[in-house]
Amino acid sequence: MHDDTLLTTLGRHPDKHDGIVNPPVYRASTILFPTLADLERPKSPDENRYGRYGTETTRELEQAVASLEGGAHCIVTGSGKAAIVGSLLALLKPGEHLLMADSVYAPTRFAAQKFLKRWGVDTTFYDPALGGAIDELIRPETRVVYAESPGSLTFEVQDLPAIADAAHAKDCLVVFDNTWASPLYFKAFEHGADVVIQAGTKYIGGHSDLMMGFVTTTDGLAEPVRLGIEELGGSVSPADCWLALRGLRTLSVRLERHYRNALVVANWLLDQPQVLDVLYPALPEDPSHSLWRRDFRGASGLFGMRLIDAPKEAVAAMLDQMELFGMGYSWGGYESLLIPSRLTGLRTATRPSDAGILMRLHIGLEEPADLIEDLEAGFTRFDAAR
Ligand SMILES: *Cc1c(COP(=O)(O)O)cnc(C)c1O
Repeated sequence: MHDDTLLTTLGRHPDKHDGIVNPPVYRASTILFPTLADLERPKSPDENRYGRYGTETTRELEQAVASLEGGAHCIVTGSGKAAIVGSLLALLKPGEHLLMADSVYAPTRFAAQKFLKRWGVDTTFYDPALGGAIDELIRPETRVVYAESPGSLTFEVQDLPAIADAAHAKDCLVVFDNTWASPLYFKAFEHGADVVIQAGTKYIGGHSDLMMGFVTTTDGLAEPVRLGIEELGGSVSPADCWLALRGLRTLSVRLERHYRNALVVANWLLDQPQVLDVLYPALPEDPSHSLWRRDFRGASGLFGMRLIDAPKEAVAAMLDQMELFGMGYSWGGYESLLIPSRLTGLRTATRPSDAGILMRLHIGLEEPADLIEDLEAGFTRFDAAR
């Protein structure tokens, strides 16, 4: 079946619930067993065991996300960051080495530089443009190659198939953060990933009111990853899982609109004298465009731009009075966002251009003409304060 059909059929079994379309929220800590034999019997991860491991509501969501990603198993976590750190802790042990793209989400970098280092895992950051040449950085003790594409803030697309071939040839696992494209616009397992991370907080939640993460794995890695994440003791509310299932139903229609709107706004930005550069792989002008075209099925509403140099007051004059664009962290909701990005301390293997003022836009579901009007007025204030 196609993704659009999967989105409407996965994660629900009305026959089990008196015909009710959506699975109910099963809240539980204690789960009772009828007999001593049942209590003591070893339980499969798919059975109700104890509330910390989730309930049927949780598993409906996990199975839906696993199918959409094209993986075998999925575990939900309390945030995207918990999914990243939990899967790395599950896969790595002291003395092992991690290769991480220089363009990863900043909290991912910090987890490697500080927390994983304390647990004896050494990290080398690599140029996201490396492709198969990553081979030269793989050491005998390298266990995981971590990728994220397009990269956070700078939006470079990585050649994941080439990276995965090099990694697998030396028995390394590929962990991939697929949040930007969502499970719909990039099929990470088909491109060589072994473990796929999703910040469900972004497009799966989709309404700026949910924190959640997903770790989806191949069949062979399901058990070690699940056991590692379970050891951390996190537990996700079944009510939040229900909300994420609701978000999933409209993922495709929302993404299509984010993509369409973002293209309109990005193309308009290209022609503005205040804009040096637009960082959006869906634009033919973007250096990552051909890789994106080869591997991705669409683009999300998140991209970057560089404005011409100006004092901070000019940026504040623009941003403080935006009508539609909000300022705040995270993205993936229905609303548009615009914030400055800082690369200070976030790149050690590469030197991205430091020209101008780097910004990040999330294009929401508003009418793009209204968003452009908001940006145009912003640029007028920017120019006046420059
Ligand atoms: C937001 C984000 C995360 C982290 O998700 P949280 O739910 O905020 O912890 C991870 N990766 C990427 C690419 C993100 O944008």
